[in-house]
This record gives sequence, C-alpha cells and structure tokens, in this order.
Amino acid sequence: MTTNNDFLLSVEGLTVSFDGFKAVDDLSFYVDPNEIHVIIGPNGAGKTTALDLICGKTRATSGSIRFRGKELTEMKEHQIVHAGVGRKFQNPSIYEDLTVFENLEISFPRGRSVFGALAFKRDKEVRERVAEIAEMIFLEDHLEERAEYLSHGQKQWLEIGMLLIQNPELLMLDEPVAGMSVSERVKTAELLNRIIQGRAVIVIEHDMKFVEDIAHKVTVLHQGKVLSEGSMTHVKSDPKVVEVYLGH
Ligand code: ADP
Ligand code: MG
Repeated sequence: MTTNNDFLLSVEGLTVSFDGFKAVDDLSFYVDPNEIHVIIGPNGAGKTTALDLICGKTRATSGSIRFRGKELTEMKEHQIVHAGVGRKFQNPSIYEDLTVFENLEISFPRGRSVFGALAFKRDKEVRERVAEIAEMIFLEDHLEERAEYLSHGQKQWLEIGMLLIQNPELLMLDEPVAGMSVSERVKTAELLNRIIQGRAVIVIEHDMKFVEDIAHKVTVLHQGKVLSEGSMTHVKSDPKVVEVYLGH
C-alpha cells in the first residue's frame, strides 16, 4: 500500500456493505490542500454514502480514510469534527427562530469557560469572527434577521458559515446549490473560491455549469466505484462518463 503524506485526505480501498450490497466499493481518491474536489455521478452512485463514511456517520466495512495523518475510520463523529472535518448535509440545519448572528455565534467553537475581563475579550473575538464570516457568506446586512425569513439560498450560505466559523481544514458540501437561483449559484461559486485558502472542499453536485466554475478536480462515481477522474475537461470527454451520466 502506498502512503503519501502530502495529501490532506487519502481514501483507499473504502468499502461499505449494507446487507451484502456495496454502496461504496473499493473506492480510492485523494484530496490536496487548497483543492476544490467535486464528486459527480448518477443517483445511487454512492456519493452521499462516501461523505457519510468520511464524517463517521456510517462505519466502513473495510478500507482506510487518512486525514492529516489520522485514521478517521477508527474515530467517532465528534472526534472527526474536532480533527477539522466539517460536513454540510443536503437540507440546511440552521436554527430558524434565531437570528443570523445567533446562528453563527452558537457555532463558534467553545473553549473553557472564562470570566470577567477574559469573557469580555472572548465576546469581542466572537463578534469580530461572526462579522468576518457574515461578510464572506453575503449576509453582513442580515445579522439581526431571523433565519426563517432568509431565502433558500441564504439559508444554505448560513449553514456554510456555521461550519466555516469552526475553521475546518476539510469542508464537505452535499449538493449546496440545489434549489438556488442562477445568481445565487454564481455567488456560491465565488464563496467557495474565497474560502479555499488554507483548506480543501469536497462538493457533491449535479449542476455541470457550477462544477465547471469551481472544480479543480472531478471524481466520477458509478456503482460505488471511480468511473473516471481528472479535470472537468478530461472527465467531460470520457466516453464512459458520457454513457452512464452526462448523456442523460
Ligand atoms: P448518491 O448520493 O450518489 O445518490 P447514496 O450514497 O445516497 O447515492 O446511495 C448509494 C446506494 O446505497 C443507493 O442504492 C442507496 O439506496 C444505498 N444506501 C445508502 N444508504 C443506505 C443504508 N443505510 N442502508 C441500505 N442502503 C443504503
Ligand atoms: Mg446523494
């Protein structure tokens, strides 16, 4: 087996079997720091399951997931979050009855409890960080608005912000632009390109225009396996990809 410590994430031989059905089947792929890595493929290809395995929501049957030298398959979900992996699910999980500010504040990583002057200093640090993230996610003018009044796209950005405030080194997004308007999609691409410094992002997406705008590398999944991999230009012209996915 090869090990290359230059990768931020190395997935090797990853398999999960549900009652004998291999939803992810001997999957290997690698993610570099500062890389936007997009996973595409037909429905049921195993894309969401692959993210479930990386974030510890689902246990692997076999294989390895190395992240910054740590073996994630042996860790619990909260330990994986603590190690620096943030995961956004398809449906935004924000607190509808809290404001944008409060949603971000509540997601700020908690340290030990502090008192007096230290607490004051920490409050200032939190407010500054919330303001910084709010600007990044295009919500700086909505801080006092209750989250329930945001548009669908703004809710998606808020959830990305709630992950960003924890400063993950790997951020995983499952179909982040589904249901978004064209202008929201363009802004989301801009957002991803803004946040990539110092981290990597794995995105599952069906919108090929969006994928073209963001992807540094594309992995095409089919029946739990890698069908094709490389630049968007490369996979787009791969006859196997056209046959099982793009041709439809
Ligand atoms: P994708 O995200 O690429 O559309 P999924 O990863 O959601 O695909 O699903 C891959 C396959 O695994 C599907 O056939 C799905 O029905 C199956 N699957 C996913 N999770 C489970 C589970 N917990 N138990 C049984 N089968 C599952
Ligand atoms: Mg899915």
